[in-house]
Amino acid sequence: MPLTPVLTSRWAADKPWTIDTYESLDGYTALPKALRSTPEELIELVKNSSLRGRGGAGFPTGMKWSFVPQGPDGPGAKPKYLVINADEGEPGTCRDLPLMMQDPHALIEGVIIASYAIRANFSAIYIRGEAIHAIRRVENAVREAYAKGYLGTNILGTGFDLDVVVHAGGGAYICGEETALLESLEGRRGQPRLKPPFPAVAGLYASPTVVNNVGTIASVPSIVLAGSDWYKELGPEKCPGTSIYSLSGRVNKPGQYEAPMGTTLRELIEMAGGIRDGHELKFWTPGGSSTPMFTAEHLDVPLDFDSVAAAGSMNGTSAIMIFDDSDSVVEATMKWIEFYAHESCGKCTPCREGNFWMVQILRRMVDGNATADEVDKLLDICDNIGGRSFCALADGAVACVMAAIKHFREEFIEVGTRNAPQGSATAVDPTS
Ligand code: NAD
Repeated sequence: MPLTPVLTSRWAADKPWTIDTYESLDGYTALPKALRSTPEELIELVKNSSLRGRGGAGFPTGMKWSFVPQGPDGPGAKPKYLVINADEGEPGTCRDLPLMMQDPHALIEGVIIASYAIRANFSAIYIRGEAIHAIRRVENAVREAYAKGYLGTNILGTGFDLDVVVHAGGGAYICGEETALLESLEGRRGQPRLKPPFPAVAGLYASPTVVNNVGTIASVPSIVLAGSDWYKELGPEKCPGTSIYSLSGRVNKPGQYEAPMGTTLRELIEMAGGIRDGHELKFWTPGGSSTPMFTAEHLDVPLDFDSVAAAGSMNGTSAIMIFDDSDSVVEATMKWIEFYAHESCGKCTPCREGNFWMVQILRRMVDGNATADEVDKLLDICDNIGGRSFCALADGAVACVMAAIKHFREEFIEVGTRNAPQGSATAVDPTS
């Protein structure tokens, strides 16, 4: 399948992260065009492009921008902010970091255009703390953009001012949840806030704030340059554009593959050199561990937000983790739930306690010391967590366990009880 690179088009260039290379490849040419439009026209353009958030939820980007009160700033008006969520932490997800490493100026140009569209004069790029290499790379790019007059006061002589700050997160998965991220940015412990109000209404310092993902904003300069109709032709009507699919696990060439939204796993596996020899696909995640797993039955599901939802999962972050017949689904599920239990911020009981309980059972299953009825106990715990927590972290954990049991119940019983005394069916207290 021919690739249509939008987000990765410069990645193979010589030192693509420098402003000179970026400018030599059409970089910063969308900016003057955008600044000649009105903010309303830009929001309309992005709405018409049907660009949807690449952070995982697929919320329409133009609509999110339009929620920000649009009147010009005047006495008493609250400032508006653009915050870039670069805290990429979903297991298996690896596309924002490579994008920032290879093409940080695409992000920065997008940040300037988006800030102008929502009338923000301050933007923060919140990058996960462990990714010190990406933090340095983006900081350097921000410095270069200031030096060339793309950031600061009176940008390109238009009277528009914008300051951009790169903020290093502390390395907590929960800070990828947008309201926890805002708490962290304000200097507090990263714990989610109750929504609504959504950040677009009351976000950073209780002011209207658009929180967008790296890939979403890095797509904006191309849309400004080439137009919304061009973008819409790149993928399915309601979910157009391209995605960087990150393929990991049992393929011959794991890595990032940019392809139109709606590409299937069958096509992606071909791009990635196939499943390793002598093995067969067993299960895979369409968009990170929090998206219910698929199996070989789902090889031809178009990987876009709507089609994946119709097939019973979520497109999420396009983080495709591939497992073959040599992998244990029980062990993979245990590892994921250990991660969620460790990363639970502890604010709400169902998530804090429920994930802990699930880990106890899953560890017993991996050791073969569980009882057959503990599979249903796991589902019962899921039932008591799902929809009852503050944010999507616990829902993600539940989705992963439920899908694993749905597809592989027999394996959970067989592996989980392999050392248990014959005929034993009594559940062990999950808290023990
Ligand atoms: P969500 O559906 O609650 O919100 C998505 C976005 O739309 C948010 O920015 C939210 O503010 C906005 N929004 C939704 N309804 C709105 C409304 N009525 N008014 C104004 N704004 C509104 O999803 P979420 O909890 O923010 O994110 C869940 C997703 O995050 C999952 O799909 C998961 O795949 C993804 N995720 C990504 C990572 C990563 O590393 N990128 C990590 C964990 C989870």
